[in-house]
Amino acid sequence: MDYRQAGQKWFLRIDKGEEVLETLAAFCRQKGITLGSISGIGAAGQITLGLFETKTKTYKATDLTGDFEITALTGNVTTKEGEVYLHVHATLSDIECRAYGGHLNKALISGTCEVVIDQVQGGIEREFNADIGLNLMKF
Ligand code: FE
Repeated sequence: MDYRQAGQKWFLRIDKGEEVLETLAAFCRQKGITLGSISGIGAAGQITLGLFETKTKTYKATDLTGDFEITALTGNVTTKEGEVYLHVHATLSDIECRAYGGHLNKALISGTCEVVIDQVQGGIEREFNADIGLNLMKF
C-alpha cells in the first residue's frame, strides 16, 4: 500500500495480495482518521460479501473466487468505543459483466485497488442497537 495526501483527501493504492478492509483500518488508525467517506475501484480475486438478514439479525456470507472488477467500493469511517470502525459495501463484476454486491467482509486484491478517503474532522460513534441487530450511528 502506498498513498498521497491531497488536502483532506487521501489517495491510496492497495497492492496485490493485500486485504482491503485490514489495509484501510490500519491506515485510518495510523493517520488518526475517525470520520470520513470511502470510495474506490480495483480488481480482487477472493471476496466475501454479506447480507444482513433482518429477521434473524445475522449476516449471511457468500464467497467469490476468480477474477473480479471492483466496480464500486463505497462506505464510511466512524468509531465504535473510540476505535476505527469501517462500514463498506462493494459491487463486483465477473468476466461476463455480471454484478455481485453486498456488505464487504473481505476483498483480497489481485491487481490493484484505488481508494479515496475523504476525511472530515470530528467523529461519529456507533452503538449496538439490539432491536435492529446492528451497530448504528449515534447522534
Ligand atoms: Fe453493511
